[in-house]
Amino acid sequence: MTSGSTLRTYQLYIDGKWVAPQGGETFPSYNPYTQEPWALISQAGESDVRTAVDAARRAFDSTWQHTRGIERGRLLLRLAELLEENAGRMGRLETTDNGKVIRETYGQMLFAARIYRFYAGYSDKIWGKTIPLDQRNVFDYATYEPLGVVGLITPWNSPMALLANKLPAALAAGNCVVVKPSEHASVTTLEFANLVEQAGFPPGVFNVVTGDGQTGQALVEGGGLDKISFTGSPHTGRRIAASAGKGLIPVIMELGGKSPNIVFEDADLGKAEVGALAGIFAAAGQTCIAGSRLLVQRPVYNQMVERLALRARRIRLGDPLDRATEMGTVANEPQFRTILDVIATAGNEGATLVAGGEPAREGPLAKGLFVKPTIFADVRNDMRIAREEIFGPVLSIIPFETEEEAIQIGNDTRFGLASGIWTRDLNRAHRVSRAIHAGMVWVNTYRAAAAQAPFGGVKESGFGRERGEEGLHEFLRTKNVMVDFSDESRDPFAIRV
Ligand code: NAD
Repeated sequence: MTSGSTLRTYQLYIDGKWVAPQGGETFPSYNPYTQEPWALISQAGESDVRTAVDAARRAFDSTWQHTRGIERGRLLLRLAELLEENAGRMGRLETTDNGKVIRETYGQMLFAARIYRFYAGYSDKIWGKTIPLDQRNVFDYATYEPLGVVGLITPWNSPMALLANKLPAALAAGNCVVVKPSEHASVTTLEFANLVEQAGFPPGVFNVVTGDGQTGQALVEGGGLDKISFTGSPHTGRRIAASAGKGLIPVIMELGGKSPNIVFEDADLGKAEVGALAGIFAAAGQTCIAGSRLLVQRPVYNQMVERLALRARRIRLGDPLDRATEMGTVANEPQFRTILDVIATAGNEGATLVAGGEPAREGPLAKGLFVKPTIFADVRNDMRIAREEIFGPVLSIIPFETEEEAIQIGNDTRFGLASGIWTRDLNRAHRVSRAIHAGMVWVNTYRAAAAQAPFGGVKESGFGRERGEEGLHEFLRTKNVMVDFSDESRDPFAIRV
């Protein structure tokens, strides 16, 4: 990174060195609060991507696959420490890049570090298993091996936290990586490269290529990858999965959601209110796990609508770098326009606007991409606001009568990432958890995260899991070894069973 008079300028990080893109192109990254450019990012072309993949392959072949688990673990722990030491600075950089409040980005840096620690512990514990067979005098064992070189493609909403869902597992398993962050928020991933270097990782183990979708496409289609782990929109995910399919490259897809957050009449409504707010207005709704459909049982419906509308109007918007700010900007101009477009159509479909519904333009907010916390009541599940992933601070509240109806509405979506259930009835909590088609269920909480717990979706929310033990195994392949230690000679034309 070089710091010119105003704009921070970043090159590509390949093979342990900062290098200019071969085409010499750069593009600005905008601060969504001021809407001014604040960093210059390099646009990597096909040849840069190839250089990065080749560097990763060399590092894998020559060094990383032979590095002992205890050493990989030591490096990952050091990286976790460095991320913790730099959490304040990295949080401010991410907030400046994507407009998420510092309260959240700072916490995300610490949570990301926690995930690095979690996988550091696995590095020297990737043991296989012995498998008793039907055959006598045959010893069978399975081992887990790294894949080789993996491509990690991330979106703009939480670059460091979402990278932490992939990278430490990939490195602990013994893979080398090429990372492609979003063109809308590349800065922290690039700054992170400095921490990786400081931690002492060998050159080529971690590489960053920046640029728009074409750079991502070059990474996916250029060959040389053993797996691709993608977090982003279903639209892009489909394209990547199709391209990867041509080369039979396995993929992990972490895509969008339209998650149901279900409040039953017997719930602790105070807790449910907090969970509903956290579910949709944290990060200005720009999270894949947003609880964007709030399903509320009739007897408590009006009360919940009133409570939430009142609380939403009081959410403090402001400078995302100010610790007092509760909700920041939307991350970029196209996203801002999409959100306002969806809001504009909701009234026509018959939903009732009870809070927000417009950009916030008061005083200093006028310069930023602020959308007021928005709530629609009387939403039907077939309306556009209930079907599309808006990826903004827009809540749809849908009434229901019975548990069966709640499950039916909850599952009536093409997505299946997260879900929430608010009830004091233990039996109901388990019944509904089982019936919901989603990768994750929260009961009497929402948006809680843990390094140990697997994360991922079903249906159009994707496949594969991150975090937890499952997250590690996404980056390992199984090899089975069968050893015959009998002295018998056998019929060569019959299968040995
Ligand atoms: P996006 O799909 O537009 O971009 C994601 C990444 O893919 C970016 O780095 C982009 O440059 C790259 N890309 C674009 N076109 C490509 C192509 N043809 N080939 C390869 N790479 C390409 O997503 P976004 O707008 O940055 O992020 C928002 C989306 O991400 C939402 O749908 C959200 O739900 C989803 N998301 C999912 C999770 C999860 O874990 N499930 C987490 C956060 C965000």
